[in-house]
Amino acid sequence: MVITEWLISRSVFGSSMSKGMRSSKKPTIRQLGEQVKYMDEEINRLSQFLNDELKACKEVLHRFFLELDKSNIVVLAMLENDGKLERVECGSCELINNIPLLDGLEQDKTCGHCGEDMNPEQKSLEDFEEE
Ligand SMILES: [Zn+2]
Repeated sequence: MVITEWLISRSVFGSSMSKGMRSSKKPTIRQLGEQVKYMDEEINRLSQFLNDELKACKEVLHRFFLELDKSNIVVLAMLENDGKLERVECGSCELINNIPLLDGLEQDKTCGHCGEDMNPEQKSLEDFEEE
């Protein structure tokens, strides 16, 4: 159920509020107190609802990433068996990046861990020594 449906079904924006507003008489302190109590209860219910939804989303994401991890391990093992995997240490953060060596797949020089260029110094240093 989406939040807007929930809100309408709980009448937070629905009939009960407008009924109160339609009355030409000023509400009594007791009526105001009841309205505040009602709103408070609705906020608590909404908060509980959002907590439950968030928990469910986290659970789904957790399972999704577990499955993704399993697939990644299989794909990397297959590439390594075929000699189509290069492990490159990032020059910036020193973590290892798995680079697939496949035709038609452009090699990304950006580190998957830190987002920096994996060998920023290498090229310019070699160029400098050759000259
Ligand atoms: Zn890095």
